[in-house]
Amino acid sequence: GPAPEDAREAHAWLDAHDRRFDLFIDGQWQPATDDTRFDSHDPASGETLASIASASAADVDRAVAAARKAFPAWRDTPGHMRARYLYALARQIQKHARRLAVLETLDNGKPIRETRDIDIPLVARHFYHHAGWAQILASEFPDHEPLGVAGQVIPWNFPLLMLAWKIAPAIAAGNTVVLKPAEFTSLTALAFAELCRNVGLPDGVVNIVTGAGETGAALVAHPDVDKIAFTGSTEVGREIRRQTADSAKRLTLELGGKSPFIVFDDADLDSAVEGIVDGIWFNQGEVCCAGSRLLVHEAVSERLLAKLRRRMNTLRIGNPLDKAIDIGAIVAPVQLERIRGLVDQAVAEGATCHQAECPLPETGLFYPPTLLTDVGPASTAAQTEIFGPVLTAMTFRTPDEAVMLANNTAYGLAASVWSENINVALELAPRIQAGVVWINTTNRFDAACGFGGYRESGYGREGGREGLAAYLRPAWEQRLPMLPLD
Ligand code: NAD
Repeated sequence: GPAPEDAREAHAWLDAHDRRFDLFIDGQWQPATDDTRFDSHDPASGETLASIASASAADVDRAVAAARKAFPAWRDTPGHMRARYLYALARQIQKHARRLAVLETLDNGKPIRETRDIDIPLVARHFYHHAGWAQILASEFPDHEPLGVAGQVIPWNFPLLMLAWKIAPAIAAGNTVVLKPAEFTSLTALAFAELCRNVGLPDGVVNIVTGAGETGAALVAHPDVDKIAFTGSTEVGREIRRQTADSAKRLTLELGGKSPFIVFDDADLDSAVEGIVDGIWFNQGEVCCAGSRLLVHEAVSERLLAKLRRRMNTLRIGNPLDKAIDIGAIVAPVQLERIRGLVDQAVAEGATCHQAECPLPETGLFYPPTLLTDVGPASTAAQTEIFGPVLTAMTFRTPDEAVMLANNTAYGLAASVWSENINVALELAPRIQAGVVWINTTNRFDAACGFGGYRESGYGREGGREGLAAYLRPAWEQRLPMLPLD
């Protein structure tokens, strides 16, 4: 059944804030200059959860100024001291894990089982991991220094986890931060701001500016920001690339994907089916590295698809606060329309659409698990990121054809290869242009492992040593004496 005590706690927290949130700037809650606001909704019930301040360019400017003011002292705080704050944040996240999980589920619509068992534990893990890095930074990165003020813009699909991916390495390395959460899912970022206060993080080290795309654009355009870290759509990423092209800002981009899920004829088909369920139906398919393109060897295609269709019908879709639910709500009406539109277009282009026979709730933003077959390699269904619970299936005959199809999109974020012959899998993996290739598994993440894309999936890595390095520069860049030429 549902988790009523946890839900009560989350609602009590919202009520304690009068369901009204301001901007978190310089360690204080500050209203937006013109007091513009927007509402956040629960996509499963339609309920309005809270009214949230919308930051203007002037507010972003105040937040950047606060981060700039805080930078020298934070940079000069020894790494082992910064580590204490990161450890304390990790512990706070664990202490408030249940409330954070419910808030995330209410705000985003994702199943409580996922927020409770995956999102929030990974968030804590990320802060613990980067606390460790802060402690050994001076010995691991001698003669390096932080970049300064990092402007960070994140999407709505893993709100608190994406915040952790951004903030933990940035502050571990001695940068200060202005972060803009996605407008559909600001609540856990605001809850995080409160945790920063609980642990006594110095004012201005972390600033949270809520708002829509314009707020993000103001942050990207701000002249006193040293680095932009963006996770979101390829279109906005392209826009940010253009906008920052004639500035000295550093840029890392984590963008979209259309990741292949490749099943060979010798694969364990039952395991592969479970992998597919996780690959495309985890988080309603709103996952940048979702295994959204099934490429299956033609010899086993019919058998695999029959098993998959039976399994689809057993998925439970509904109230995401119910612990037994597999598939929750789609984050917002605009996203649901986008999914419907792309599936309609796929069918118009000749695809056959199979949808799970599981019952849908009568209200709320829900979309059933969907499988598209009869899709051509150049069709919309095969090329466009749908970012919903929609799987596209195609067949191949040879490993070469599998590689060719796998690489035949503009993206390159992740891939999954299934075979009982490890030589087949290991030979194929390096030929796929993707930041990560999983073998006989999918969706494995760890704070110690760099994550990122090839081509239109972006550049730069988050997590691990590379992720940290993206917030540092060699100190000699600044200190090298000018040598006279003669
Ligand atoms: P989006 O690009 O619309 O929005 C992402 C963020 O950018 C939001 O906070 C939004 O307000 C902000 N934004 C919008 N316009 C902006 C502008 N002009 N300048 C600055 N900021 C702007 O993406 P979305 O719909 O929130 O998220 C879905 C996308 O994110 C998918 O394409 C998905 O693949 C991608 N994603 C990628 C990763 C990854 O690690 N590669 C992870 C999660 C999501």
